[in-house]
Amino acid sequence: TKLYSENMFADWAKCLGSRSVISLRYFNPVGAHSSGIIGEDPNGIPNNLMPIIAKAASMEKLNFQIFGNDYPTRDGTPERDYIHVEDLAEAHLHAVKKTEEFNGMRAVNIGSGKGTTVLELLNAFKKVLKKDIKFTVGIRREGDLPSYWADITLAKKFLSWEPKRGVKQICDDAWRWQVKKNSL
Ligand code: UDP
Repeated sequence: TKLYSENMFADWAKCLGSRSVISLRYFNPVGAHSSGIIGEDPNGIPNNLMPIIAKAASMEKLNFQIFGNDYPTRDGTPERDYIHVEDLAEAHLHAVKKTEEFNGMRAVNIGSGKGTTVLELLNAFKKVLKKDIKFTVGIRREGDLPSYWADITLAKKFLSWEPKRGVKQICDDAWRWQVKKNSL
């Protein structure tokens, strides 16, 4: 679906010489607004890693399961590229500005440029909370790849953008939002 959409936008941009499109290829958007008042609130048990860790941290009964620890990575758990939602928002502002300066279609990766494993993210979250988060290790989730992260060279060069927020801030902000949400 994503590739098909990009191809459509590329055709659309070609039809008239003066059109410009930038497709931002998100990696794993996580965290919340640093004010603690904007964040995600998935229905039921979340599927994605960050919201499920946040939920598990605030609900003793929720069993957080790591989907496999036998991957060929640093600690056996899969590696993904987590990007703070505010960095992602800033990438959009840079992209909108850039559309005024060129014609055509460009696809740009938006990520942190680094891989973080499931255990690394869990441990960063535990540090922020200063408490343990229980987990079990289950089998691999079908379709999961061991490792991938974004090459953000083009984002830096073409959009003059780079991420400013790391995993600690991602966890700080996600937790601020979770606490606020729990109190509503
Ligand atoms: N993951 C996990 N337990 C969960 C949810 C996710 O171990 O309850 C792992 C999953 O196997 C993957 C990583 O966390 O390696 C990120 O998963 P997510 O679904 O958030 O992103 P995606 O895999 O789609 O990039």
